[in-house]
Amino acid sequence: MSEVMMDRISWVTYEARVKRDAPVVFLPVGALEQHGPHLPLGVDAMLSTAVAAETARRVDGLVAPPLNYGYKSQARCGGGQTFPGTTSLDAASLIGLVQDVIRELARHGVRRIVVVDGHFENQWFVTEAIELAVRELRHDAPDLRVLRTEYWDFCGKAVLDPLYPDGFPGHALEHGALMETSLMLHVHPELVALDQLPDDGPAAFECYDVYPQRADGVPPSGVLSSAKGAEADKGALIFDAVCSGLADAVLREFQR
Ligand SMILES: [Zn+2]
Repeated sequence: MSEVMMDRISWVTYEARVKRDAPVVFLPVGALEQHGPHLPLGVDAMLSTAVAAETARRVDGLVAPPLNYGYKSQARCGGGQTFPGTTSLDAASLIGLVQDVIRELARHGVRRIVVVDGHFENQWFVTEAIELAVRELRHDAPDLRVLRTEYWDFCGKAVLDPLYPDGFPGHALEHGALMETSLMLHVHPELVALDQLPDDGPAAFECYDVYPQRADGVPPSGVLSSAKGAEADKGALIFDAVCSGLADAVLREFQR
């Protein structure tokens, strides 16, 4: 099987693959953000990279190195900026990074790009970067196509319902909780501290935000709903649903 990680092949191999196969190139975008006492700070980049790599294998694509930093954590979906370790970008920095990578990939001749977002707060800034890149490249690369996904959106009701007997708390509260913990147990089990699994939440927040950010209402563990019940098997199920859904979407959208 050929290597999918772009940073592990030479420019000569890369150039040949781009010319010969016109591969889809995936760009995982994550964050350096607390995910509770049981998960490492890099979860969002690790999971988006794992999804990108597995999907790339299925569609014969390549994966650019992930962006390991993301937009500022918000209390109601990531616990907020009050935790040590959470290390975040201003929006302009994130927009610039993503736009720069898309411009460079397009210069190499890549015309089909998938941005796999693994951090809730990144969404609109990644979108802005794509919008600006597509506008900037409309004459030089009019056939450039970019697909953006928050990978968890490929995990539908049929997969989620059996995993959450008490009801799915929603993706915003699924921070360091059952889904991310199960996925990590599937992808990087050596990085999960099972003896530290928190049983907090679901967090009860007001329906608004106040700045400067405060820790009010955020469970002290940093997770926003319970991680109890997380299992590698559940992670495998979610992971396969996500990668299958994304591979189907890539084939469907980029064949037009
Ligand atoms: Zn996360």
